[in-house]
Amino acid sequence: MTYPTYHNLIGGEWVPAASGKTLLNLNPADDADVVGAFPSSHAEDVANAVAAAKKAFASWRLVPAPKRAEILVRAGSILQERKEQYARDMTREMGKVLAETRGDVQEAIDEAFYVAGEGRRLFGVTTPSELQNKFAMSVRMPVGVVGMITPWNFPMAIPSWKLFPALVSGNTCVIKPAEDTPLSTYNLVQTLIDAGLPPGVVNIVAGLGPDAGAPLVEHPDVRAISFTGSSEIGSLVGQRAAASFKPVSLEMGGKNAQIVLNDANLDLALNGALWGAFGTTGQRCTATSRILLQKGIAAEFTKEFIARAKALKVGNGLDESVEVGPQVNEAQIATSTKYVEIAVKEGAEVLTGGRALTGGGYANGTFFEPTVFGGVTPKMRIAREEVFGPVVSLIEFDTFEQAIEIANSIEYGLSTALYTKDVNRAFTAIRDLEAGITYINAPTIGAEVHLPFGGVKQTGNGHREGLGAIDFFTTWKSVYVDYSDRLQRAQIDNAE
Ligand code: ADP
Repeated sequence: MTYPTYHNLIGGEWVPAASGKTLLNLNPADDADVVGAFPSSHAEDVANAVAAAKKAFASWRLVPAPKRAEILVRAGSILQERKEQYARDMTREMGKVLAETRGDVQEAIDEAFYVAGEGRRLFGVTTPSELQNKFAMSVRMPVGVVGMITPWNFPMAIPSWKLFPALVSGNTCVIKPAEDTPLSTYNLVQTLIDAGLPPGVVNIVAGLGPDAGAPLVEHPDVRAISFTGSSEIGSLVGQRAAASFKPVSLEMGGKNAQIVLNDANLDLALNGALWGAFGTTGQRCTATSRILLQKGIAAEFTKEFIARAKALKVGNGLDESVEVGPQVNEAQIATSTKYVEIAVKEGAEVLTGGRALTGGGYANGTFFEPTVFGGVTPKMRIAREEVFGPVVSLIEFDTFEQAIEIANSIEYGLSTALYTKDVNRAFTAIRDLEAGITYINAPTIGAEVHLPFGGVKQTGNGHREGLGAIDFFTTWKSVYVDYSDRLQRAQIDNAE
């Protein structure tokens, strides 16, 4: 079949990788459908992209922030016009269902309009000087060339969380999209170009992580790295960047718990759990992977949850009636399969699912049955390790305090949810759950762009996207203006 060939974007020009090699982007619902060939880039391509970004920084940093923001406003409007097409492209390359890929594009639209407002804020502080006739303030400065490494599960939203705040802050960017889903980054950047972004301000280098991501992290002219992906690679990226004291923002894994108390609205809790566990085929860092059930409702919840999980329609996400799309690739299927084996060996029971779907309409794709484990105890690996697939564990508990303890007993700390009608317990949970995000009577997934996004423990290294991204993409400059016309020595002339 024929398919388009894409190039890297370097200094406003589309250029093939120096190696001349490409990687095929396949539709996970149908591997006969090739979305396109994308460059397989290496250090040389990265160096060219960084040089172009460095050159563009000289003028981009001088563009007034409100003018930079106008480009984001235009980009948001163009994305609105192209939403359907970009959602279809995304379903083809990533697999998740159309309703969700429309949501992914919508998130980029929301981010564009939210961040554009920063063009007229980017607030610093003014404060009194301790000396007479002296003015003190702090202003935000761009960092310089920023490197971005993104995952495949939110192929447009996550690049937008990084690119838009970096751009409005006056930085120039080199982005290395996930090898499974580069097209959505291309669509996003094409939108920025059509909105008037000057050449070289955003550059794309596509390729494999070790080939194209690692040299970006190590390049001396890259002043900061923003990474979203697995904790394993995040740790590597953080360590490499530390060698040159490069700031790194790391957003990584989760093992998110939904707690259901005896007094919960059970139907609501069931709907939330189903969406949290199987939305995006379980491939969200905020996906519900543990459902903690108080004993009074456990039997009824379990029976009904299994029935609803069984009824989910799995298939090609381009079919509007499908509820659960494929997993993104064979490696993810292998991981889900491996964890089923581990769980069963540890004594968990497969209540439904547990296998890859093959044959019939599933023959050419990477599909996995929605899978529910019962009899799970908090120490089992299936209750502690991230699977990133349509796999969820049911864990029973007696008291509210036990539920909080179990929820916190893992190494991750991204999202949590509590279903209850008891306001006292709700606020206690908000205080005590060790996570960057807590939902009350809503599923663990569903972040909005204007709140801080990120987690504690092994989920992140303290930075936040959304509200907080500007803090990462700017650096402070403190400014003192002395209009006394004489030498004033701080802490000396004004002592006493
Ligand atoms: P996921 O399992 O969600 O794909 P990864 O952490 O493997 O998460 O990948 C996230 C991003 O990190 C991808 O763009 C990938 O290409 C990139 N990556 C993988 N290995 C490295 C590496 N050694 N250095 C830099 N980036 C990497």
